[in-house]
Amino acid sequence: MTDAIERTGLAKQFWEKKPLNKLNTKEWEALCDGCGKCCLNKLEDEDTGEVALTRVACRLLDDSSCLCAQYDIRHNFVPECIVLKPDNLDTHAYWMPQTCAYRLLWEGKPLPEWHPLLSGTADSVHAAGVSVKGWTVSEFDTPEEDWEDHIIEEPI
Ligand code: SF4
Ligand code: SF4
Repeated sequence: MTDAIERTGLAKQFWEKKPLNKLNTKEWEALCDGCGKCCLNKLEDEDTGEVALTRVACRLLDDSSCLCAQYDIRHNFVPECIVLKPDNLDTHAYWMPQTCAYRLLWEGKPLPEWHPLLSGTADSVHAAGVSVKGWTVSEFDTPEEDWEDHIIEEPI
C-alpha cells in the first residue's frame, strides 16, 4: 500500500530532537501513523472521564485504506472533526488512541517500531494489527444505543 502521508526528506528521528510545538507542518503531519483509530466513535463516562473506543467508524472513514474519504472538505460533512495541532494536543490527548503517535510523544514515550517513520513503510501499521483496516462498522448502520456492544480493548 502506498503511504498517503508525505514522509520523505525529513531529518532522521526529528521527533526526538525537537519538542512537538517546534515541529514544522510536514514533520507534524508525518507523525500520523495512518491507523485511522481517531476516526472511531468514542464513549466517554461523564463521571469518571474514562474513554472507550468503539469499532463504530465515522461516516467518512474508508476502512480499507484507513483514510478519510473526503479529508479536504470533511468539515462540510462532519463539522465536529477535530484538527489536531500542537496547541490543542493538551486538550485532546486523553481521548486519542493509546498507540497514536501524537499521544505517545505527548506522554514522553517513544514511537513503536511499526511506525512508518521507523519501518519505512505504511504497511507495517496494518501488519502489526494496530490499524482499523477491515474491522469497523458503519455509524449509519449502528444506532448510538448499541455502541456499547462495539467497545474495543486498547491497545490493539
Ligand atoms: S490515531 Fe493518531 S496516528 Fe492514528 S490516524 Fe489518528 S492521528 Fe494518526
Ligand atoms: S471526518 Fe474524516 S478525519 Fe474526521 S473523523 Fe471522520 S473520517 Fe476521520
